[in-house]
Parts: sequence; structure tokens; C-alpha cells
Amino acid sequence: GEGVLDIRELETQFHVGKRVFKAVNQVSLNIEPGECLGVIGESGSGKSVTALSVMGLVASPPGVITGGAVFHGGQDLVGARYSTLRRLRGDKVAYIFQDPLSTLHPLIRVGEQLAEAIRVHHPVGKAELRQRAIDLLNDVRIPNAESRVDSYPHEMSGGMRQRVAIAMALANEPEVIIADEPTTALDVTVQAQVLSLLDDLRREHNVAIMFITHDFGVVAQLCDRVAVMYGGQIVEQGTTDDILANPAHPYTRKLMECVPELGAGRRELAAIPGLPPAVDDLPP
Ligand code: ADP
Repeated sequence: GEGVLDIRELETQFHVGKRVFKAVNQVSLNIEPGECLGVIGESGSGKSVTALSVMGLVASPPGVITGGAVFHGGQDLVGARYSTLRRLRGDKVAYIFQDPLSTLHPLIRVGEQLAEAIRVHHPVGKAELRQRAIDLLNDVRIPNAESRVDSYPHEMSGGMRQRVAIAMALANEPEVIIADEPTTALDVTVQAQVLSLLDDLRREHNVAIMFITHDFGVVAQLCDRVAVMYGGQIVEQGTTDDILANPAHPYTRKLMECVPELGAGRRELAAIPGLPPAVDDLPP
């Protein structure tokens, strides 16, 4: 069927001194509406550059997209005539960085930042923008949203800030969210909460997620399908169940060995006692 994001033979090069190398090499990925696609690989395998290429955020120089296409809503996002500004206003592709402070301005109240993100797409009055900002904070389960809307980012915990960054991503009712290691910077107890929030939001908002991670445990919990990246290329992709049951590539097996619980199989993984609930992030 028609994917919400169709990445075809993407190639991105970096020029470092006299050296030129392909950080992303012939990467093809198709994301269907509402599904979660995991993109897994070790540091340096090309996951972030793939995501940044889709978003038009590869810094040029040193980086340049040298081949391929990314189709979304009938348009090629890599096409030369497609401006970043148009994408900000029109696209249904959102992005969550590892560090929420990459999204949030430190000197502006979170409600105002959310209101601005909404206003770009829905130019409504101030009172309605504020109410929609509160609604978004409620969507991402931030307690006391009516007062939190006036907080500055530094007044929130790391997990809370990442929730606000997720709310920012939801502002334009995206069809797909690219989440680049969105829990790696968080305390381990808060990680599980943010992961289950993303899983819930995917269903509630019918938004597809491209989930970038190095952790096969996370893929097993969240992702319908998974693509394994190594050296800028996809070495295998398929349904999570198939790949966990029958990993074809030695690199995939190596990544799976990092998560011993996977030996118990995917079904049982959910039954393994979870992490203790965070004490500082959400009320009981
Ligand atoms: P991952 O997200 O899988 O950890 P990246 O996509 O960030 O890996 O990086 C892929 C490759 O591209 C790495 O070799 C990395 O060093 C290189 N790279 C990424 N960004 C830049 C940059 N701005 N300049 C030069 N090389 C870069």
C-alpha cells in the first residue's frame, strides 16, 4: 500500500578533509500508516544521518544527499524545489531528538512554544492556542497541565521535558514521527514510561513511528517491523517476530546477544518483571 514515508535508495555522503564516504548507502525503507518501524544499529551505523536526511537537516557542507528519494504525501522531500519552510508548515513528518533541549527553547514558557508550533498550522486566537497547548500536555500525560503550561523547560524533569518535546511533535497531527533514540538521555526508570507513552500515542493518534535505537529489547517491545543498519546500509529487514525468530545476518545476531532476555522469545519478554516506576516524574 501507499506508505506515509517511502525512502528509496537514499544515499548521503560526508566530505571530511580529502576523504569522502557514504554515511547512508542505498537505504530503502517504507513506513505504513500507524505502524512502528524500528531502525537498529550500533553508533555510527548511519541511523541519524538517514533520519536527518529525511528531515532536510543534513548540514551541507560537510554532508550532501547524493542519491535517492523520500516520498511523503505525493512529494519527494529530497527534491530540489522543496523548501525547508514549506516542510515545516505543511508536512506531516515530525521529529523527536535524543535531547529534548534540541527542540525546546530555554527562555520561552513551554505553553508559548507549543502555541507557536500549533499556530503555524492552525492560526487561531490566543486563548484557543493556550487551550490546545494544555490539551497537548494532557495528551502526553503531563500532570497539572493547566499550571505546567506556564513552566520553563528547566523547571521540568528530563522525562517531563521529553514529553513536552513529544507534544511539540504532535502539534501538526503528524502521520509519522521519527524518534531518534528518544529515551537514551533519560534515567532508566523514566525510559520505560516514555516508551509506553509513544506506544499509546501511536494507537490513539494513529501515527506511524520510525524508532531509531541500538536496543533490540526496545524493538521487541514496540516495533512491528525492524531494519538492521550496519556501515550505512540495511543488512536485513522484516517483521520483528520473523527477525527475532530467525535472524539472517551475523550482525543482527550480535545485536540480539546484547539483550539476553530475547532468548526467552518475544511473547515472554513482556512478562519479564518491568522496571520500577519512577518516583520523580509522575504522581502515583
Ligand atoms: P548513528 O546514528 O547510527 O549512530 P550517524 O548516522 O550519526 O550514526 O553517523 C553515520 C556516520 O556518519 C558516522 O561515521 C559519523 O561519524 C558520520 N557523520 C555523521 N554526522 C557527520 C558530520 N556532521 N560530519 C562528518 N561525519 C558525520
